[in-house]
Amino acid sequence: MDDLQYGARDKRGNWTPGTPLHVAPFWEGRWSRMGHFVVEYLWPWNAFHMTVTLAYWFLIIQPNLAEFSTWSWKWVAILYAINAGGIFVMYGSIELFYYVKRIQGTRFKYNARFPAENPSDVFWFKSQNLDNFLRSFFVSIPIWTLIQVIFFWCHANGYHAFAWLGWEQHWLWLVVLTLLVPAIHEIHFFCGHWLIHQGALYKHVHSVHHNSINPSPWSSMSMHPVESAIFFSEMLWHLLIPSNPVVALFQLNSTAYGAINGHIGFEKLEFDGEAGDKAMNSHAYAHYLHHKYFEVNYGGEGLVPLDKWFGTWHDGSKDADEQMKARFRAKKERLKAKQSKATPAE
Ligand SMILES: [Zn+2]
Ligand SMILES: [Zn+2]
Repeated sequence: MDDLQYGARDKRGNWTPGTPLHVAPFWEGRWSRMGHFVVEYLWPWNAFHMTVTLAYWFLIIQPNLAEFSTWSWKWVAILYAINAGGIFVMYGSIELFYYVKRIQGTRFKYNARFPAENPSDVFWFKSQNLDNFLRSFFVSIPIWTLIQVIFFWCHANGYHAFAWLGWEQHWLWLVVLTLLVPAIHEIHFFCGHWLIHQGALYKHVHSVHHNSINPSPWSSMSMHPVESAIFFSEMLWHLLIPSNPVVALFQLNSTAYGAINGHIGFEKLEFDGEAGDKAMNSHAYAHYLHHKYFEVNYGGEGLVPLDKWFGTWHDGSKDADEQMKARFRAKKERLKAKQSKATPAE
């Protein structure tokens, strides 16, 4: 595909989309976009997460549900192997084709450089890829697995703030809740993410994730353990909301397998090369801008537009750039005024 039909490339080779980001169309009355929005909402990413969820449930968890009622390290080990294997295949194939083999070159790539070209002391072994890979498999995936086993231990023992619901009786609410899973994700992610951008939490916790200014698939789960715990605890809302374990598992899988979306680094992933016309939207741009500018886009793509409501939305346009700079200047002024108050002139 000709990426210049969809955006522009600067002198350094960095590509930017031609149209700014928009929050979900129903917030802006863009009703003509609703059909497109609904299709993108379901296909292909959420359909993929649901398929993965059903495979986990019917092949692994449901047949062994009784075993979760007592704490079992065996199940921690089994689920770790499955989670790690799933991530290795999914993230690994995008990494392999688009970052190692580079089958698409830099077409639709926001940052023209690849992380492997930038060795840096901030990473373990000076390598962003190796650092991000090790943190994913030895920090984040174990924490994800522990939260998963704790959740199914609670379920197998009947623990819930209200009640576990069955599909036959409560199918309507459970379908609505399933459709709301991405919205719950955006709210949980925005709040937890905003929190770890504050003061000491940023310095000691979230800075690990932000070392990857130019993220790639392995960056998605490259986190400090505190951040991983906050990130994956999203599933635990289903111990408070009347729910069903399949919906909770969908919440967890769309968090874990969906973490890649913000870190793909390409606007579109082509399937049939430069001459073809088949490509998949990555939905990566909002979070790419977060990695580039840090204090914008704490949430997702504006399904629940918290960034817009709190003044931290960046849609990629020049206007948004100016607004962001004005916000940073005002913050600097406020800090300066605070400091001069704290140290009175002699
Ligand atoms: Zn990120
Ligand atoms: Zn951040």
